[in-house]
Amino acid sequence: MSDPRSFLPVTGMELPRFAGIPTFARLPWMAVECAEGVQIGILGIPFDAGTTNRPGARHGPRQLRDASTQIRLINQATGVRPFHLARCADLGDSPVNPADVRDSLERIEGFMRAVVQRGIVPMSLGGDHLVSLPILRALARERPVGMIHFDAHTDFYDSYFGGYRYTHGTPFRRAAEEGLLDTRRVVQIGIRGSAYDGEDVEWARSHGVRIVMIEELVDRGVEAVMAEARAILGDGPVYVSFDIDGLDPAFAPGTGTPEIGGLTTHQAQRMIRSLDGLDLVGADLVEVSPPLDPTGLTAWTAVNLVFELLCVLARAVVRRSA
Ligand code: MN
Ligand code: MN
Repeated sequence: MSDPRSFLPVTGMELPRFAGIPTFARLPWMAVECAEGVQIGILGIPFDAGTTNRPGARHGPRQLRDASTQIRLINQATGVRPFHLARCADLGDSPVNPADVRDSLERIEGFMRAVVQRGIVPMSLGGDHLVSLPILRALARERPVGMIHFDAHTDFYDSYFGGYRYTHGTPFRRAAEEGLLDTRRVVQIGIRGSAYDGEDVEWARSHGVRIVMIEELVDRGVEAVMAEARAILGDGPVYVSFDIDGLDPAFAPGTGTPEIGGLTTHQAQRMIRSLDGLDLVGADLVEVSPPLDPTGLTAWTAVNLVFELLCVLARAVVRRSA
């Protein structure tokens, strides 16, 4: 097995943060085929052909890598040092075909399968939210997973534009139909805004999904809601999907479908930290659209949430290997 020290990021003490080639958090880069000893793989999925309105999330992975050079080693709130706990590496980007959605889904699934087959826990950077479907196809092939999903939208719609079933508004409907999600162990937090017809919410609830609208979160508070979420998610495998539009546009304006009245960054950080102890098998952070993010704030915000996710993923990796 490789020397664990070779998996530590280059720090800002060694090389200024603006210098060098920006892998995620300045971790080592490794192709999946030779990712020996890697426990958590950070990977990009530069795909936004599932976007129904304002695109640009295909540029997310590159922008997130650039912003991620600010990430340091220790989570001062929890004391967790993710890169010391688990061997992390940047696995580069999944192949995609920007001119063909179905072909892209197959390419992404193939890439994710190679990651999962090596026993690597994926931390995926989107891309629009449709990328969660091929990730789940690779990750939950043998047994359905539970999911905690932060978003302004349920993404449980059936179809768009007269029966087209593969958009960033439909990934979890497909995942549920395909038996990839245990819908009685799915919790959605931050849902809000105007809706088409409510069919998505009705369908999800009728299949046992727990939907926490933003109003309920604000009224009951993070702690009470997350205690309930943890009880629902239980001991089984849990996937984490974080759509950056779950945050209020004041914190994350650079996304295709912003909705007012959303999560604060502090609420999001605390909710991710409270996932510690769950059997987390992977995570994604999606829908950052750099062309809609002129100040870069959304990318800065997103990479810090990815750092929080890496902290709880690393703890889960350690627990499983103990
Ligand atoms: Mn959304
Ligand atoms: Mn979404």
